[in-house]
Amino acid sequence: MLFERLQKPTHFALLIGLPALWLPASLLADPASAKPARESDIRMAELAEDESVEDIEQSVPLQAAPPDNDAVESTLTSPTAEPEPEPEPKVRPGEVFTLLDSDVMPGDSTRLAWAPGIQIAGLSQPTPVLVVNGVNAGPTLCLTGAVHGDELNGIEIIRQTVYDLNPGKLSGRVVGIPIVNLPGFQQGSRYLPDRRDLNRHFPGSLEGSLADRIAYSLFEQVIRHCDMLVDIHTGSLKRTNLPQLRADMNNPEVAEFTRGFDRMAVVHSTGSPGMLRTAAVAAGIRTVTLEAGESHRIQQHQISAAVNSLTSLMERQGMISRMFVWGDPEPVYYDSDWIRANHGGILFSEIELGARVSKGEVLGYVSDPITNAQHPIRSTSDGRVIGMAVDQVVMAGFAAYHIGTEAEIPGE
Ligand SMILES: [Zn+2]
Repeated sequence: MLFERLQKPTHFALLIGLPALWLPASLLADPASAKPARESDIRMAELAEDESVEDIEQSVPLQAAPPDNDAVESTLTSPTAEPEPEPEPKVRPGEVFTLLDSDVMPGDSTRLAWAPGIQIAGLSQPTPVLVVNGVNAGPTLCLTGAVHGDELNGIEIIRQTVYDLNPGKLSGRVVGIPIVNLPGFQQGSRYLPDRRDLNRHFPGSLEGSLADRIAYSLFEQVIRHCDMLVDIHTGSLKRTNLPQLRADMNNPEVAEFTRGFDRMAVVHSTGSPGMLRTAAVAAGIRTVTLEAGESHRIQQHQISAAVNSLTSLMERQGMISRMFVWGDPEPVYYDSDWIRANHGGILFSEIELGARVSKGEVLGYVSDPITNAQHPIRSTSDGRVIGMAVDQVVMAGFAAYHIGTEAEIPGE
């Protein structure tokens, strides 16, 4: 395997229930640096500032994992069974799952605690980690939310997904960390207390900044135990995102992973150094970012779309069996570009999130409140509005509309 599982002394904990963490998030808006866009000759998306617009030049596909021969063997094979063509994958019993110094038995749901060890010891506040260990063997799917503390939809997406699971029917494990950035969440802030963006510091280091240390702790104690990871985000700075995946489609394993998500736009993005997604993929973990909606808000429509898609993923991975009804035969892949305002003023949109637009079509206007000048913002290509700013005061250069143009999958 690409990493060594941590062997820890064992405790057993069985706690069920959501932590009482629903504190009112203040609506402090944090300044974030918007970096200039940059073109590259390879396929790449220019991302929302949420993930940074400065993508790396190219991604190196990972080595394909060797076939898992163990999966073919089974202790349940009947000795009298006749040779037959490849049957359904055989069910194997689940195993004890050791995480965060605790053993979780097959068929159990548990709430564990992750403490990054950076707080004042006497005031330490651990971050809840929800674990469902299936009665049957299977892969480990991890879900992370609120890496940016003001992004609330992911918290609810993880709650609904994890608490809907029946460990007695699950194959594999689901690990949910609804609020990775607990200090930021309590402050209603995207950032850590040291003003750093945690999603630029993975996989972290033991002796670096506060953000480095928190990232390192999460990565070593939890993330390395995952086979698959979905890191859930929202738009930032008063922007909203159509439910979508950000994935490095140059990586064959990640590209295949995206096929499990029903009704999701998939935006190709190699990712930036320091992002949880980038670091996890580099560690051999199939990882995508799932974007849904706006920060500071709970949006049930967006949450439902994401929960639906995660359900389809778990079925595709053989973890659950729900006779899932697929909405789309295949995901739709996009390249994307941000269209920026060229004038300051008040932005009024003419289109809605998810709209299909044509090149030259007016997406909205920037209205000068003093001179009454109206400056239209037009689409630069045919495509779909996969992200957009909400109506607000903007300055020249503000990224207002994220247009996705349908693309072929690399290598196919
Ligand atoms: Zn985010």
